[in-house]
Amino acid sequence: MGAVARAMKNMGLTQLVIVEPQREVLDSEARARAAGALDILRQATVTRSFDQAIADCGLVIGASARLRTIPWPTVDPHQCAQLVVQTAATQKIALVFGREDTGLTNEELEKCHWHVHIPANPEYSSLNLGAAVQVITYEIRMAELAQQGQTVQVTADHPLATAAELEGLFTHLETTLQQIGFYDPENPRQLFRRLRRLFNRAQLDKMEMNILRGILAAVDDKTSAS
Ligand code: SAH
Repeated sequence: MGAVARAMKNMGLTQLVIVEPQREVLDSEARARAAGALDILRQATVTRSFDQAIADCGLVIGASARLRTIPWPTVDPHQCAQLVVQTAATQKIALVFGREDTGLTNEELEKCHWHVHIPANPEYSSLNLGAAVQVITYEIRMAELAQQGQTVQVTADHPLATAAELEGLFTHLETTLQQIGFYDPENPRQLFRRLRRLFNRAQLDKMEMNILRGILAAVDDKTSAS
């Protein structure tokens, strides 16, 4: 329960409902595992039955480690997250997880609109409860952020070098590499094509471009001095 609360809080979810807990919800192990998410455990609602827990939900998604013999509409965690973000504005949603030892019963699973299955190693597909909650809630977080256009973007600290600057680098490289005897224009092979591919892949920014031009200038100085 502690691990579940922590996974939820890390991913920005707050409402935990626990059905018929086998032990004290706030026991010492749960507190320790919850760490900074103790508030989620404290606020958790405890219900006597599964039906009561899902009663006010318009969409119920059950997480299952096994693919059942009766086929049921099943999604992977990414698709599950899409369903959740599309529905969350209008419906209360339950994400149901099973007992650590026996999972969800067939009766419980049949009360779910969808099943979500983490496509883990078929030889051993059962994650522990906290880990399963983490995977599912992470995908929901990602879908939410994507919807808000806030997924992490690696932002450069300098603007990217322009095409003209890149051409300047290649011209400079051609001269310098020729001077030091690395490049023979009579026998060019694929060198510059490969270098272009390399530098395009690197997406140089202006600062990196200055460093490379500086290195070439230093080489030029040495070769013209000798
Ligand atoms: N032994 C149980 C698994 C319990 S794991 C069984 O075979 O059903 C505890 C809960 O974590 C499961 O009930 C399920 O809700 C979730 N879970 C674990 N592995 C999962 C997986 N691969 N995909 C989806 N949910 C999973």
